[in-house]
Amino acid sequence: MAAITDMVDLSIENGIAVLTIDNPPVNALSQGVRQGIKEGIEQCLSDDAVEAVVLICAGRTFIAGADITEFGGPPKEPGLHETLDTMENAAKPIIAAIHGTALGGGLETALCCHFRICDGGARFGLPEVNLGLLPGAGGTQRLPRIVGVDQALVMMTSGAQIGSAEALQHGLVAEIVEGSLREAAVAFARKVMDEGRPLLRIRDLDDKLQPARDNPGMFDDFRRAIARKARGFLAPEYNIRCIEAAVNLPFDEGMAVERELFTELMAGPQSTAQQYFFFSEREAAKIPDVPRDTPERPVGKVGVIGAGTMGGGISMNFANIGLPVTIVETSQEALDRGLGIIRKNYESTAAKGRITADDVETRCGLISGSLALDDLADCDLIIEAVFENLEIKKEVFGKLDAIARPGAILASNTSALDVNEIASATARPGDVLGLHFFSPANVMKLLEVVRGEATEKDVLKTCMSMAKRIRKVPACVGVCPGFVGNRILFQRQAQGQQLILEGAMPHQVDKVLVDFGLPMGVFQMSDLAGLDIGWSAETSNSETIRDVLCEQGRRGQKTAAGYYDYDEKRNPSPSPEVEQIILAFSEKAGLQRREVSDEEILERCLYPMINEGAKILEEGIAIRASDIDVIWVYGYGWPVYRGGPMHYANSIGLDKVVATLSRYREATGDSAFEPAPLLVKLAEEGGSF
Ligand code: NAD
Repeated sequence: MAAITDMVDLSIENGIAVLTIDNPPVNALSQGVRQGIKEGIEQCLSDDAVEAVVLICAGRTFIAGADITEFGGPPKEPGLHETLDTMENAAKPIIAAIHGTALGGGLETALCCHFRICDGGARFGLPEVNLGLLPGAGGTQRLPRIVGVDQALVMMTSGAQIGSAEALQHGLVAEIVEGSLREAAVAFARKVMDEGRPLLRIRDLDDKLQPARDNPGMFDDFRRAIARKARGFLAPEYNIRCIEAAVNLPFDEGMAVERELFTELMAGPQSTAQQYFFFSEREAAKIPDVPRDTPERPVGKVGVIGAGTMGGGISMNFANIGLPVTIVETSQEALDRGLGIIRKNYESTAAKGRITADDVETRCGLISGSLALDDLADCDLIIEAVFENLEIKKEVFGKLDAIARPGAILASNTSALDVNEIASATARPGDVLGLHFFSPANVMKLLEVVRGEATEKDVLKTCMSMAKRIRKVPACVGVCPGFVGNRILFQRQAQGQQLILEGAMPHQVDKVLVDFGLPMGVFQMSDLAGLDIGWSAETSNSETIRDVLCEQGRRGQKTAAGYYDYDEKRNPSPSPEVEQIILAFSEKAGLQRREVSDEEILERCLYPMINEGAKILEEGIAIRASDIDVIWVYGYGWPVYRGGPMHYANSIGLDKVVATLSRYREATGDSAFEPAPLLVKLAEEGGSF
């Protein structure tokens, strides 16, 4: 083989050239790859001994995308467009031989070959939308021409991948081959030559665009179908506009639309936030003093204590990856109810076609119930999810200490309690940590891995890896009330309460937060969670609005009344009754109600969250600011196109954040607005989180 660059090799056998890309780990389209492809093809075109070219990758995958480290830097020659033009316009057939994943620029490269074949495991996708972008190398114009408009809309607005069978069905590949991909590709190239097949440039295809021309309303139908998921995001809409351009304009004009919209997205705040978040998520997996090679403890069997809301969902995560789980409850009735809900959840997933009926049985079969803690003696990981009560949790951990095998990991799913205190109930605090799942635990991606002061490093490492095995996004946090996520949430909820006393109504506060991009506001969240969490009828004395609502049986969605009234479909509407209660509380507090602007609501809800984040960083409760953002995006639905609360603060400018906090500190006297020292320091230095 002859090296074209240090990332691309060329070899020629019996008239068929093989260009091999080798740029580990994922054969990203780095400068050396682009140059290697371009010069390699040019060499093949000028070499009379070459009849056709196979483009193939070494290692575990075809080109899996652009080299994201080149984003934002000066352009490096040759550009991808130039490289792809050389390929598409080549006078000799180029065959892409695909294994692993052909993603983003990788798929766009394959779309500029004249033929594509793949192995059975190959996957294809244009995930740019997930970085707030669109495929900027012709993918928006070529994909609909080869797979059709419907399929292109789905792939480009979701970023979802398709497998080899679907790729074959949609015409994206010509063949799925078995055995050596390289040999099959060379044989395919030979066949193309022998049969004298014409060179197929996707840009020249038109037949798959026609159905969309015949049905121009399909684009708006599609927009409506994805409206909820795409709310607030620019990139899905821009991807759709590119496909509309592919349908309605000549190829080169469509390319110009793609270029213009790509440039706009690339320069905009959403893709900046989404690219930041892409790296943040990967960074969150790292704990600086727990090296990658820290040994892990084996986890083959899991125990869960409590079959309530959380225990059930937590158990499903492990059964989903084939691990046996034993759930312990205090009564047969609670156990039966918990196991029944798990089955119902699986059955409804099966009804949606996401798993099979066999999967339901397999997974339910992996989860067994028990009324005896002793049955957890052989578990490697035990997660406690009983009532949120420190005394009960300590009692459970005391008993576990006598039952669990040496080396078993003992975790608590507490939302806010002191994990060190819980660990002290055992003689092995090094084996104890918090695993804070979010509700619904089988759905929500976030896992706060709560590091106690004695938690062993191998316990942390094992749990960070385990989180990934069960497809969660872990972030390591320290011990404090509410950890990172809920501690920040408390700030926002407190401001919401204060704002309704001063003059806003719940629906106004919630609307501002939802318009900002959050999935729900302060009061919608309270109603969903239940107003009576942590409330007790015995001690309630009508001291807060919440007390009064609970006393009146307005406990939230579950009682069809909370801050809102709910109809039988759980649609909320503002409650005149609650408004009267709020007005009475304002009066009792001696507050002259006033018009509260949307801007004030937004600032007063969000800035104390940023301020609390700064305190959390100062105290070392979070390892890095970006972990706080990961927690808020995955745990609370902060819109990823705004990066997370800390990224949002950076985008506003920390000096402005400090000035606004100080203004509210002055106006309200509320210490929540006293700017945290770290925030002040960074603002003075002109820095950012
Ligand atoms: P839940 O009331 O739905 O379930 C608790 C279950 O634990 C009940 O079924 C109860 O019978 C059982 N139980 C109580 N004592 C037990 C014991 N000694 N042994 C075995 N089982 C026992 O509560 P939940 O919402 O699932 O919350 C459980 C824990 O998870 C709490 O610490 C809570 O703070 C935390 N958490 C809850 C949420 C949420 O949104 N619900 C989110 C994150 C964390």
